[in-house]
Order: sequence, then structure tokens, then C-alpha cells
Amino acid sequence: MQSDGFSPMISRAMIRRIVILTIVTVVLSLLITSFIMWITDQSAGLPLALSIAAFCPLAVTPFATFVFFRQTMELEAAHKALGEAHQSLFELHAKLKDAHRDLEHRANHDSMTGLANRDRFLARLSELKRKSDSGYLLVIDADRFKQINDHHGHDAGDRALLAVGQAISSSIRASDLGARIGGEEFAVVLQGASRSDAVLTAERLRASVERISLTTADGKPLKITVSIGGAPFGPHSRSKEVLRAADSQLYAAKHNGRNQALIAEQTERAA
Ligand code: GH3
Ligand code: MG
Ligand code: MG
Repeated sequence: MQSDGFSPMISRAMIRRIVILTIVTVVLSLLITSFIMWITDQSAGLPLALSIAAFCPLAVTPFATFVFFRQTMELEAAHKALGEAHQSLFELHAKLKDAHRDLEHRANHDSMTGLANRDRFLARLSELKRKSDSGYLLVIDADRFKQINDHHGHDAGDRALLAVGQAISSSIRASDLGARIGGEEFAVVLQGASRSDAVLTAERLRASVERISLTTADGKPLKITVSIGGAPFGPHSRSKEVLRAADSQLYAAKHNGRNQALIAEQTERAA
């Protein structure tokens, strides 16, 4: 509050209001008293009556208006402080919400590639089973990745994994889930996909990784390929069995020479 050179509790504006109200009450008191004295025809007691009529408002009004204005100011200050506290709480709530969202994201995602992590991937598989959904699971493994690390260093390996993660994200639909489930192992849950959808997606993904163009620290091209195994899941399939079926296709793809996708027709328990 502006002090005008006075104490913050007594401003120039407050003194002006107190003086005006005091003058108004004194004048009104004198007028009313004169009128009463006139209609009751008591001119003898007029000087005393007028003195009392002037003294009473003079004694009471400044004090009463001061208390009234001070309380009004205190209420306004309290109201302002409440508004500020409300704003701070609102901002704190927004920050907490952001922090919570961030923590939730970290708990469910792989920090290197931004894909879902293994826990989120397994949760999604169980979720689909609960909803009696069907589709295809792809497991993807980088080929001879140990050699990439050995020949070009761990940093080049990390850049290659990041690029594989991006290739996976850009090869699947928004409703599919791409995850990093191990060091150089990834998975994709294709919800509602048929075998031909799964074959097309796996081939698109494989080709997309093959096109990745990276260079090593000494400027040499860094080639990376993946092998993919796929298996269907249905309302009655067990996550472990589907994973095992996809893994056995992946193993066969590795055995056949790598850089290829093999998608199973059906597993025993998949509908
Ligand atoms: P294969 O084609 O049979 O899959 O051969 P591979 O060399 O890829 O398989 P292997 O399991 O022998 O080696 C996997 C390598 O992946 C070993 C490990 O050091 C590397 N790796 C795992 N996680 C990471 C990571 O986060 N960054 C890097 N740079 N390398 C990783
Ligand atoms: Mg590998
Ligand atoms: Mg592996």
C-alpha cells in the first residue's frame, strides 16, 4: 500500500476521508439539534445543546471512521495475500503435475531411445490379454552388435542403437508399442495385426534399419542390420509363450544368415 510519507496504517487519503466524514457528521448533528430545539421551542438551552451536538460527533466520528477504514484496509490486504497464496498453490500444483508426468515417463521408458522399457512392454502384453485382443509380437535383435562395439567403440554402438530406436518408431503405427527390452534387443506389439500386417511391418522395419547411414569417429560408414522374429498372440495366449515363439523365429532368422524377418504362422495357444 502507498504510504504518502505517513505510516502505512494512516495514509493521506484516509485522513482526508476522516476529516470529511467528521465535518459531515458535525454539520448534520448541529442541523438536527437546531431543528429539534426549534420545533420544541427551547431557545434558552440552544447554546448548550449545540455545544453537545458538535462535541459528540467530534469525539466519536474520527475514531470510528479510523477503525472502520483500518479494518477495510486489513481485509483488502488479507484478500490480496490469499489471492497470492492461491496463485502460488496453483503454480506449485502445475509443477507437481509436470514432475509426476516426468517420473511416470521415466518409469516406463528407456532413457536412451525414448521407446517403452521392458516393464512397460510386459504390462502392455498383459493388458492386451485382459482385453481379449489379438495381434502380433515382433522381437528385434541387432546383428553382430558386439563387433560394432569392438571395432568402432561403445559410443558408436550407442548412436547405432539410438538410430535403430528411431527406425522402429517411424515404422510402426501410433497404436503399436515399440520397446527396448534389452541391451541391443527391441520388441514391437502390433495390436490387431494379421500375419500379413506383421510381415509387412517387419520388412519395413528391417529395410529402414538397413538404410541407416552413420559414420564412425574416423569417418568410415557404419552399417547396422537387425534380425526379426514374429509370433501371433490371442486372448488365450500366455506372454511367456508368445515371447518364446517370437524368439525361436528370431533364432532361426539369425541362423539363416541375419538381416531378415521370420514371422510364425501361429502358436499353439494363440487364437
Ligand atoms: P547376434 O547377431 O548373434 O545378436 O550377435 P551380437 O554380437 O549382437 O550378440 P551378443 O549377444 O554376442 O552381443 C550383444 C552386444 O551388445 C554385447 C553388448 O556389449 C552390446 N550392448 C548391449 N547393450 C548395449 C548398449 O547399451 N550400448 C552399446 N554400445 N552396446 C551394448
Ligand atoms: Mg545381437
Ligand atoms: Mg541380443
